[in-house]
Amino acid sequence: MRLAGSATLLASALAAAVLVALAVKPELRAALLAQFNDPASLPSLPEDPRVHYEPAARACAAAAAAALPGAVAKIEAEHGRPFARPPIVGVFADFATYARANGLGDDNVAGVSRAGRAMLSPVMCREEYWRLASVLAHELSHVHFFGWRPRGAARPPLWFTEGLAVLASDGGAAETVSDADAAKAIRDGYSILLDDSAWMNFLSIPFAAEPPCGEGCVRQSFRQRMAYRQASLFIGWLRARDPAAFSRLMRALEGGAAFGPSFEAAFDGSPRQRWADFAKSLQASR
Ligand SMILES: [Zn+2]
Repeated sequence: MRLAGSATLLASALAAAVLVALAVKPELRAALLAQFNDPASLPSLPEDPRVHYEPAARACAAAAAAALPGAVAKIEAEHGRPFARPPIVGVFADFATYARANGLGDDNVAGVSRAGRAMLSPVMCREEYWRLASVLAHELSHVHFFGWRPRGAARPPLWFTEGLAVLASDGGAAETVSDADAAKAIRDGYSILLDDSAWMNFLSIPFAAEPPCGEGCVRQSFRQRMAYRQASLFIGWLRARDPAAFSRLMRALEGGAAFGPSFEAAFDGSPRQRWADFAKSLQASR
């Protein structure tokens, strides 16, 4: 009896601790919610069982399925190897369901990748339908990259994973800022500053000077797209300069190696050192 009593007490204490942790840590709550709202448990399309959808998003899911083979082939070619396992795509009609499933608890993001799933916001099926294929390819780049990495490996800085995804998807998630816009901003002194920050608050992305946003520009999404596009341009420059070194870096990171030493080994210097060369090359090509 006493043992049972202690066990009950322990269980109650544990449950209370979990509740406190969930209340204090919103990201923990969001991650737990995502576990119970896995898009893989939604119905799948008969024509492509990789695509799961809320019934009201049936037509949009069909559009995602039509774009999927091309996007998968493109990402595999850009990253230089097949997916570790077939990706799962989630297409949502309801913003609240999407927020529960995406692990962020936030419905204001165009797409999210998580645990082998590429999830598309309902906005991809509506106002921003024109971006559906490119955002899908962008998210698939993350699914591919993290699909190879061992669980618990330290994440590379966000400028690298986002720049890679924009590069591999031909501009996905940075559609309204072109390579030329990004190159001009860098030449004019509005470079992103490469660091290890998480960039989840896009108003806090560090730039050498604040890039001018112009009339009617939405500052938060503009900063995000400008930063992503600059990072993409830089990674594309590194890859063009030494494709073998780029492949070595990719394979090392996919194996779970730490970013800093892997980058230095591949490119004989730190990201900031190589950025200085990159920025100089843009000045020379103006
Ligand atoms: Zn991304």
